[in-house]
Amino acid sequence: MDVSHLLEELNEPQREAVTASDGHVLVLAGAGSGKTRVLVHRLAWLIQVEHVSPLGVLAVTFTNKAAGEMRERTGNLLQVSTRPLWIGTFHGIAHRLLRMHWKEAGLPEEFQILDSEDQQRLLRRIIRDEGMDETQWPARQAQWFINARKDEGERPQHIDHLDHPVTATWAQVYRRYEEYCNRGGLVDFAELLLRAHELWLEHPPLLDYYRKRLGHLLIDEFQDTTAIQYAWLRMLAGQTGQVFVVGDDDQSIYGWRGARVENVQHFVRDFPDVRTVRLEQNYRSTGNILRAANALIAHNQARLGKELWTDDPPGQPIQLYAAFNEQDEARFVVDRIQQWIDSGRRADEAAVLYRTTAQSRLFEEYLLRANIPYRVYGGQRFFERTEVKDALAYLRLLHNPNDDAALERVINKPARAIGQKTVTLLREQARAAGLTLWQAAGAALAQGVFATRAGTAVAGFVRLIESMRERMQEWTLGNQMQGVIDESRLVDHYAKEPQERMETRFENLRELVNAADAFTMPQDDADAGLNELQSFLSHAALEAGETQGESWDDCVQLMTMHSAKGLEFPLVFIAGMEDGLFPHQRSVEEAGGRLEEERRLCYVGMTRAREELFLTYAEIRRMHGSENFCRPSRFIDEMPAKLLQEIRPRMATSRPYRPARPARAARTSGVVDDSWPFRLGEPVLHPKFGEGTVLAFEGSGEHTRVHVNFPAAGAKWLVLAYANLQSA
Ligand code: ATP
Ligand code: MG
Repeated sequence: MDVSHLLEELNEPQREAVTASDGHVLVLAGAGSGKTRVLVHRLAWLIQVEHVSPLGVLAVTFTNKAAGEMRERTGNLLQVSTRPLWIGTFHGIAHRLLRMHWKEAGLPEEFQILDSEDQQRLLRRIIRDEGMDETQWPARQAQWFINARKDEGERPQHIDHLDHPVTATWAQVYRRYEEYCNRGGLVDFAELLLRAHELWLEHPPLLDYYRKRLGHLLIDEFQDTTAIQYAWLRMLAGQTGQVFVVGDDDQSIYGWRGARVENVQHFVRDFPDVRTVRLEQNYRSTGNILRAANALIAHNQARLGKELWTDDPPGQPIQLYAAFNEQDEARFVVDRIQQWIDSGRRADEAAVLYRTTAQSRLFEEYLLRANIPYRVYGGQRFFERTEVKDALAYLRLLHNPNDDAALERVINKPARAIGQKTVTLLREQARAAGLTLWQAAGAALAQGVFATRAGTAVAGFVRLIESMRERMQEWTLGNQMQGVIDESRLVDHYAKEPQERMETRFENLRELVNAADAFTMPQDDADAGLNELQSFLSHAALEAGETQGESWDDCVQLMTMHSAKGLEFPLVFIAGMEDGLFPHQRSVEEAGGRLEEERRLCYVGMTRAREELFLTYAEIRRMHGSENFCRPSRFIDEMPAKLLQEIRPRMATSRPYRPARPARAARTSGVVDDSWPFRLGEPVLHPKFGEGTVLAFEGSGEHTRVHVNFPAAGAKWLVLAYANLQSA
């Protein structure tokens, strides 16, 4: 059989990894060096040359998007159906295992996935129930504590230092939380992994079966695996499984979420005779992009150390744009994307990357205005929007009324006279009797616990859910979705909101019905024995945001740098390159290598670019309701100046960037500049803010800013050219 196509377009070390004989392999290499490609070719090689059954391979990637791509690429190489192949994320695979073995995992068949927001809501309630002060014991922190413990494989009873009062308190919250989840059949993201691990631990015959079946385990982005994922993998591999991992310590960006870059070293220690392959040639980016990225990452101390080179020409310098403010930044980026499209290139070749999800909004606005289609990954994702989650909560109740999180979400949505007092009473009943809220509602009604009015209201709600359950179980998913939206009268709840927001919510609900209508259950889920509704709900929780719209439509890609991992685009913008935003303020303040992780994130962002890379920052950015002066990110200064080219607003020519400019101190009283149109202390008039007093000037020329104190609106920094100020 001719297998040369599996080795074509691979360099020597890549081939070595793909064709390695028995044993474990670690491919350790920088961005764009072909790690993912090697993993895909290895997969195909195993099946075609080593005659491993497609059922005998497990491939793990970081996102569902990456899993889809991997499946497609393998299919192209093999020219056979990739259906039997088990490819997915750790969470997706754990979920599938738990669905297939729910009994052994100690879960009810209809268990539901609890997303992060629901988890927090549930925790808030528990903290309240325990009579704890929420300001001192915030739910967010409880969530962090619990997830971190689960990532370490710890249940409440495993937690040490119970003599430490704070830990002991959180452990108690963890214990309560676990009780609630068990009663309602709720599984959070961290729980998926922990349960899947315990499934192995507690059921040796099952583990044995999978060990025999899955003889080859391949893992991409290995540097971002957590302790529990690594433990799961080790257990599954046992003595016989062959493990092939690829990763890059310089791209470890999830340390804050429990990822353990040390797993790379542990792998070499824990598995016998690991063959390590290093790849040094980058095939993705132009010379300039690569050189700048290499120079940046060289500032990190904690590195295994490697340098990438490329055969590609240097290409354009990296373009640096200093925007007046965030509006100007968005306008600039969208202009450049328009030029790119006008020159005959595709919109989906362009990606805008940013540090925080909130930054997407302005780009969306300007793209909309320019009529350029776009897609946002992450952020306020479709399935996370309030109205979508409300409607899904009804659908969840239809399926499992014991789902406390869902019940609590909608019991008084729309308002049906079930007040906080009634809900509290219900919770107490539930807690005292060890029941779910739904069960407690039934019991309380039977015992006549409620006052008349509240009793009628709760009975009405119970009847509503029961009647929907009776009639709609057999309906198609789309009809169920429409049915629960209509009969719950959920839209009444939003009708009081401002027109525009209300309309958006209605649109989203319509879109949700469309999504349910169009939903076809993936084969994986069918194989795992899920019904359509379970599959849809899990998909909504697990794949939020990755499936909105037609994923392969030709649209500009907007995403955080975290979600850009593993991807590549010909044209990349990294926006918001400002100290405090990127690197993020928290990382600058905290010790413990956070700044290095931010630098790796910047490295990840830059190395997504194939042909052109733009870095942009705003000199003034409106954040949290006030205007702030920004300094360009220190990461810009860490790149060689000769690789950067600065573009100035409204200037035909550009000049090389000169780094390391000192922070501009505001020039205040004492110094007077002839070019200032107002004197310090002079009264001025602003069209919106009214009368004010000039406090200071800063900058020069087009960049001159003026600090004005407006008695009515507070002190503000304004760009003089835009401010429309007049002498009062
Ligand atoms: P990352 O660290 O960002 O995940 P990676 O190491 O996984 O990157 P790939 O995505 O596999 O890198 O490859 C980067 C690009 O280089 C892809 O477009 C890939 O097709 C191409 N490439 C990889 N190896 C070769 C090769 N030997 N010849 C030509 N192109 C290659
Ligand atoms: Mg990759």
